[in-house]
Amino acid sequence: MNILDIIEKKKNNQVLSEQEIIYFVNNYTKTKEIKDYQMSALLMAILINGMNDEETYWLTKAMLNSGGKLDLSSVKGIIIDKHSTGGVGDKVSLILAPIIASLGVKVAKISGRGLGHTGGTIDKLESIEVETKLTKKQYIDLLNKCNMFIMRQSKDIVPADKKIYALRDVSGTVNSLPLIAASIMSKKLAVGAKYIFLDVKVGDGAFCKTVAEAEKLSKIMILIAKKFKKIAIVHITNMNQPLGRAIGNGIEVKAAIDFLSDRPESNDIKDLIYDFCSDILLVTKKVSSKQQAYKKIDEIIKNGEALELFCKWAVAQGGNLKVIKSGSYFFPKYSHSIKACGNGYLEYISTKEIGLISVLLGSGRLKKDDDVCFHSGIYLDKKTNEYVKKNEVIATLYSSKPINNQIIKKFNDNYRINKNKIKLNPIIQKIVK
Ligand code: URA
Repeated sequence: MNILDIIEKKKNNQVLSEQEIIYFVNNYTKTKEIKDYQMSALLMAILINGMNDEETYWLTKAMLNSGGKLDLSSVKGIIIDKHSTGGVGDKVSLILAPIIASLGVKVAKISGRGLGHTGGTIDKLESIEVETKLTKKQYIDLLNKCNMFIMRQSKDIVPADKKIYALRDVSGTVNSLPLIAASIMSKKLAVGAKYIFLDVKVGDGAFCKTVAEAEKLSKIMILIAKKFKKIAIVHITNMNQPLGRAIGNGIEVKAAIDFLSDRPESNDIKDLIYDFCSDILLVTKKVSSKQQAYKKIDEIIKNGEALELFCKWAVAQGGNLKVIKSGSYFFPKYSHSIKACGNGYLEYISTKEIGLISVLLGSGRLKKDDDVCFHSGIYLDKKTNEYVKKNEVIATLYSSKPINNQIIKKFNDNYRINKNKIKLNPIIQKIVK
């Protein structure tokens, strides 16, 4: 097989064979015969010309088989997995996992780092020194003792996603439905949980811009799950505005800890977490109604059990309790307050732009080997449709380096003040099974 022929074939919008896909994935990941620039070219051809369902399934399978699978057979109880397609301020996994684990459902999860303008759970967890590279003994112990673990791709587990994911982040090849589906599903199938709960984000701050596109992505992931005899359930959720108020790494961990301490940032994230968690509890038969689920979730947040489990798990996975308790994981050196230019109802124009500004402040990567800064990010003191008065602080930018005027201008250009509220979509747009 010839590397260039395969790239040319996809460039000419032809269907790749399973053998060609396996060849490309293996020789990029294992033999390293295929170089970053050749993989980038193929990824770009896939982004432009797409893949049919069969090719997407083959790509998922090749990525899954690039490494081993977790062996959870010795663990008793129901195990679920959860994944989001990525958004701005999306700290759902950090909150949902300890809530679900506190209520007796085990959560086994492989997550990723930041991708494009969106944040990643692994980067966020590293701000509190959580170790996300786990051995078999560690992940089994974590499931038995804490009912949860969150780990990352590695040389042994979905190495193909580890390499391709990092390359997509810096080569403009993130927003391709087959690449997103294969990336997510290869990780989920490597974990092997029976139930896979997917949060497909839709809107300006997401990779899917329309509900139709989000449904297409949902259906292909459900199809792939079925081929592996797993059950995938998708919530399509609104990403037309950042979720909550905090955007970044340490700052999102702080918001997650606040949520688990019964201090949610805003109603959108509260509604999403309660709805998503109650659906998980219903499917896994831990409750018989949504009402009962809401009551149980409320209880374990108010009595401190969910926060206690978060701390127990974080420490068991190498996290630093002193750092967690002191809040020193978010200690930015520089900040800049953005003040309202008039009176009225605030509207952020582009959520993606807010994500990109957070990356520029240091919370994401522009090049493959860039380090992310845990102390950078944005806090939205005011969200879209909240009333503001002239000169009131609407947002605060944080960074470890001086915040330049270009970044401040970008933020100022990305909001307006309206006389009336604008129409916002509900947080849960659709459920696809
Ligand atoms: N999350 C992933 O794991 N992969 C993607 O491509 C997008 C979101």
